[in-house]
Amino acid sequence: MFKKILVANRGEIALRIQRACRELGIKAVMVYSEADREAKYVKLAEEAVCIGPAPSGLSYLNMLAIISAAEVTDAEAIHPGYGFLSENADFAERVERSGFQFIGPTPESIRIMGDKVSAKQAMIKAGVPCVPGSEGELPDDPVQIKRIAKSVGYPVIIKAAGGGGGRGMRVVHTEAALINAVAMTKNEAGIAFGNQAVYMEKFLQNPRHVEIQILADKYKNAVYLGERDCSMQRRHQKIIEEAPAPGIPRKIIDRVGDRCVAACKKIGYRGAGTFEFLYEDGEFYFIEMNTRVQVEHPVTEMTTGIDIVKTQIMVAAGERLPFTQRQIQIRGHAIECRLNAEDSYKFIPSPGRITMWHPPGGPGVRVDSHVYTNYFVPPNYDSMIGKIIVHGDTREQALARMRTALGETVVEGINTNIALHRELMIDAKFMSGGTNIHYLEGWLADHAR
Ligand code: ADP
Repeated sequence: MFKKILVANRGEIALRIQRACRELGIKAVMVYSEADREAKYVKLAEEAVCIGPAPSGLSYLNMLAIISAAEVTDAEAIHPGYGFLSENADFAERVERSGFQFIGPTPESIRIMGDKVSAKQAMIKAGVPCVPGSEGELPDDPVQIKRIAKSVGYPVIIKAAGGGGGRGMRVVHTEAALINAVAMTKNEAGIAFGNQAVYMEKFLQNPRHVEIQILADKYKNAVYLGERDCSMQRRHQKIIEEAPAPGIPRKIIDRVGDRCVAACKKIGYRGAGTFEFLYEDGEFYFIEMNTRVQVEHPVTEMTTGIDIVKTQIMVAAGERLPFTQRQIQIRGHAIECRLNAEDSYKFIPSPGRITMWHPPGGPGVRVDSHVYTNYFVPPNYDSMIGKIIVHGDTREQALARMRTALGETVVEGINTNIALHRELMIDAKFMSGGTNIHYLEGWLADHAR
């Protein structure tokens, strides 16, 4: 096992990884920007290194600064967390070339999955069901593009091969709008992602976002840890996640889970990963794979009892997965609410000093957050200040626990989205389960204030 790991991230996930290291008896070196000097995990750290000024381009995205920090502190491995450099194949390669273990998949796996066209092709080969669409990148010939759209069937969605974060996508309803839409998406993709390639998919009208968590070791052992429903989104950003996905038969989950495991074995995937799907009318359609730990991993930890972050570290150190598929049991129901420093209904970011922080507690309640009373939320990064996760024997009990937890939570000095979560936890449609990816935006439009 490693003796020392460098944590190349910030916020709640940096603290989460630090906690996993403590449990494993590993020293964690924390890095921080000048804006994060006061972070809890920096204060708790045995070793911490400032890697640059507040803008992430100069600190958390600065590969050289991070690798140098690992060198001067004698760390053996680097955990990238999520966001920032976590899905950057060049970074993973540089980490390994500098003699450190990258806690994640191989650079090749990241590269294949980072390009959505090659990811989809790999999935089709491995027998994972995908959204019907173009075979690979769209050609230049307008006649051929029109022919492809006709066979896929309108509406279609044009997506950038290099896209991410919900950007680089355009829905097309008619042939008249098609060629112009393809040209615009290509152009935008070139500017935003440095890659003009686009592909086409059938646009699903009312899908749910359901994803499968997997874990794999270096010896081609892989398991899936059930699914998460992340359909409660605004602008393609998840705000509430839960496990299991309400109302989807186990049989269907097991079938797609088996396909994901087979795909991992086929591509020699190692570490934690998530296969994201759209789910409509009883069918799963792969959209992309995330080759890292996800924000919403705790709902899976609560329902399986498996520590995903610890397992990531163990398999990176060369250990075998300590469980088989048959040993994985899904127990009860878990829900996560992301706490954001923003206005509940206008979504204007609200950085600043937290004058009072009182997190909830009690049976089945978990809070993952790096903030505390008198902590200053810097304006430079993502607005998420933490997550409340609850577990119950049933979905109803989990909902009741979340209502209690949100009722106990006090955050003063900044605006948060707690009021929105409180309302959603008593919304009849959400309570009945199975809302689709458009539900929250519709709800917000109906509740405009
Ligand atoms: P990103 O990497 O930018 O997050 P994804 O491919 O994961 O892009 O898609 C993000 C979101 O866009 C999905 O969760 C879904 O809401 C919507 N979306 C993507 N593809 C389709 C599709 N074929 N039909 C309908 N909605 C889609």
